Amino acid sequence: MADEMKIGIVGAAGRMGQMLVRQIGETDGCVLAGATERPDSDAIGKDAGTLAGIGTAGVAIGGDPAAMIAGVDAVIDFTAPDVTVHHADLAAQAGAAIIIGTTGMGPDHVESLERAARHAPVVFAPNMSVGVNLLMALVEQVARTLDDSYDIEIVEMHHRHKVDAPSGTALGLGRAAAAGRGVDLDEAGRLSREGHTGARPRGEIGFATLRGGDVIGDHTVCFATEGERIELTHKASGRQIYAAGALRAALWTKGRAPGLYSMNDVLGIEV
Ligand code: NAD
Repeated sequence: MADEMKIGIVGAAGRMGQMLVRQIGETDGCVLAGATERPDSDAIGKDAGTLAGIGTAGVAIGGDPAAMIAGVDAVIDFTAPDVTVHHADLAAQAGAAIIIGTTGMGPDHVESLERAARHAPVVFAPNMSVGVNLLMALVEQVARTLDDSYDIEIVEMHHRHKVDAPSGTALGLGRAAAAGRGVDLDEAGRLSREGHTGARPRGEIGFATLRGGDVIGDHTVCFATEGERIELTHKASGRQIYAAGALRAALWTKGRAPGLYSMNDVLGIEV
């Protein structure tokens, strides 16, 4: 239909790329209008829908991002930092919105995104899940409301293959709690404990890490004081939450002015 938003997926053969192709098929108001991969990828020339397991989409995966981005309203990018920056420049030239989920961006990458955002809407979020972004905002709000007689502890669990601890999301929750309390996580954070640790210092923000099985990602932030405990929990049971958040962001950019936006902007969350 004419008013459907035309979406392009770069890195369409990747884990998130395929998830995004499937998510577009399930989302009203948008249509898959282009897909790319690395020029040397085996996926070039294949149908993006067939590759994602949803049947023919009528969109062949190409190797020319400039041509693809020029023909879409918004492009979604879950690839790699240097590649993403190039795509953001192309989106800026074409005046197309770009939704970026790529992680591992350094300050130079972010600076490039800020430049691109002068010419097109750029949504950038290291975690695109609507639920996780909402949890971050709630944690900041609760930490702002409670004083440091409430001990903050963050518990996370992930599958046995995860190599880093605590998770990036747990650290993000810690930063949200610290921001709410007006302190710096680098000073207040206690990333692990063992042995004779002594009593818990007032104001500490503690972390505990569990690893096992196939858990995609559970996070609980606990505020504990004498006589009561408040716990805020998010449990991910599928990676489609990131694709769903990215699609929601893409639709939100329709008619939006150029600028660098976060998921808080997309969700209307004021922190
Ligand atoms: P992946 O390796 O499965 O997919 C990346 C894809 O990008 C690959 O298919 C690769 O061939 C493709 N690619 C590389 N160079 C390209 C180029 N020049 N042009 C087009 N495509 C190119 O990885 P993944 O698990 O899908 O994750 C991708 C990124 O998204 C990572 O940075 C990951 O951390 C991030 N991620 C973010 C969120 C979030 O919520 N923000 C969620 C999941 C993953």
